[in-house]
Parts: sequence; C-alpha cells; structure tokens
Amino acid sequence: MVSDFVSANYGYLHTPDGSRKNHDGYFDNEDLKKQIIKAMEIHGRSVVGTDGKTIKEMKQMHPGKLLDGSMQSFYFSDSHKSAGQFKGMAVILQEHGIPVDELKLKAQCGKGGFKCWFTTLPTGSNPCCCWKALYDQPDFIAQKSIIQELIEAHGHGMTIYAKFHCECNFIEQIWGYAKQVYHEFPESSTEAEPERNVLAALESVPLISIRRFANCSLRFMDAYRKGLNGSQAAWANKKYHGHRVLPESLMADLEV
Ligand SMILES: [Zn+2]
Repeated sequence: MVSDFVSANYGYLHTPDGSRKNHDGYFDNEDLKKQIIKAMEIHGRSVVGTDGKTIKEMKQMHPGKLLDGSMQSFYFSDSHKSAGQFKGMAVILQEHGIPVDELKLKAQCGKGGFKCWFTTLPTGSNPCCCWKALYDQPDFIAQKSIIQELIEAHGHGMTIYAKFHCECNFIEQIWGYAKQVYHEFPESSTEAEPERNVLAALESVPLISIRRFANCSLRFMDAYRKGLNGSQAAWANKKYHGHRVLPESLMADLEV
C-alpha cells in the first residue's frame, strides 16, 4: 500500500527541512491501526477477551437526531432492562416514527448485500427494508465521515473526487505516469525491489507534470460545470490546454 500527500502546486509534501521519510511515511501501519480502533469505537462494541472479560470498553456512537430536533441515543437508557445495549435498527427506526412491525420490514432486501441504497423511493411510499429506511433518515444523510470531521475540526475543507472520473482527479494521472515508469524497470529479483521501484517511480514524476495534470483536471471539471459532455470536454481540454479554466468564448467555439 502506498499513501502520500500531494499538492497541485508543490508536488509531494515534504517536512520544512526538505526531508521526507518515504511515500508511506504519512500513513503507515500505526495510523491504520489507530483508524481501525476508532472504527471499532464507533461501532460501539466492547472488546472481550477469550476468558469473556472485557478488555476494553469502547465508546458509544454519537447520538442521532430525531425529526423534532431532539437527540436520539442508540443505546437503551439506564432504566431499561437492556441498559447500555445497542437498540438495533428496528427500535431506532420506530423512534423515528417508522412502524417497522406494521410494515413488516425486513432487515435488508434480498441476498447479496445492500443494493437498494441508491434507489429513490417515490414520495410518500414505504421503505423497502430497514437498511434503506435508516439510510434515508436526515440525520443519517447528514452524518460526516470521521476523516471529514477531523479535517474540518482543524479548519480545513474536504472535497471528494467523483468516482469513475479519473480525468477530474490529477492524482490518478500521477499514478498513471508512475505506473508507466514502474513497468520500464527490469523484473524484480528480490522482495525489497518492487517497493524500491514503486517509490522510485512515484518520485520520478516531475513537478511540472504534476502541475499539468492538476490543470488538466481543473479544465475537465470546468467543462462539466459549463454543461459539456465527455467528448466535448475532452475536445475543449485539448484546445485550451494552457488554461486552468475554459474561456467564456467556449460555447461560441463549440457552435462553430
Ligand atoms: Zn431495501
């Protein structure tokens, strides 16, 4: 796994003294472990040892919000016979006013995972399953990821590039360049060599190319914002390759 930070202006990020551990120095196994522990905390479960004793009491999930704006705990209150336990989807949804039993909602639709998440149900219709009902709750929709919360808590913004649109993501283009360089290396004979080669290939991407890739992605984004389709955007990107954004005369040029 390779993880690094790259800037459209400055290339790969370095420490102020100009050094840089390596490409995975900013997100190594320790970081990954911390992230997994955090994920477990969010999952709201305790870690129990083989002797059945609790090793670590995990934190509970943040409360949600009901439609009237009041907070909704996902765990039973102290006065409940199952005090402290996770309420489960059905109870959470009932508290949201969805009559799960009455509608005979299944936990999820069919086999093979949660596939109805992207469907838009007609206004006023009942949800197809509990997962979908939960997925469409306003507090669920508004919930930000841990990473986003962390970034925003530090005063930065976060933009997620669109999936399946590598033309809008200059990191994909850096990766593509590095992969081409990697393929030109002689076949590896030791285990350490592929890692060295990956790092060398990434390091070989010139800053000027990183900047060009970033500009290219900006032009594509601008083209889509202006309403162009894929092939028009590709044409405009070629024609105005020196620009960061496409000129206002673009639409007139397209009509010629
Ligand atoms: Zn469903």
